[in-house]
Amino acid sequence: MCICVNCRWVDRCKAYHTVEKQHGVKHLTLKPDFEPKEPKIHISLIDNNQRETEVEWDVQACKSFSLDNGRWIRLRPNEKVPS
Ligand code: SF4
Repeated sequence: MCICVNCRWVDRCKAYHTVEKQHGVKHLTLKPDFEPKEPKIHISLIDNNQRETEVEWDVQACKSFSLDNGRWIRLRPNEKVPS
């Protein structure tokens, strides 16, 4: 699970914007203006059942993380939280 979904900066963050781009999902903002300190992005390769490999990008640590539980889901209340 990407820690960004519970971070107060998620809708302004340049690193999260990159993660969204890699996942091909809709951006929370088109102009991120927050530069996080030392985000550690974990990349995993996952074999799906169609003999294809998917790439998962998750921020697992970040010095700028600031806990705001449920921030992402409050911004997109009718959508599935990215995992
Ligand atoms: S945890 Fe770091 S990378 Fe993720 S949204 Fe917050 S500031 Fe950005």
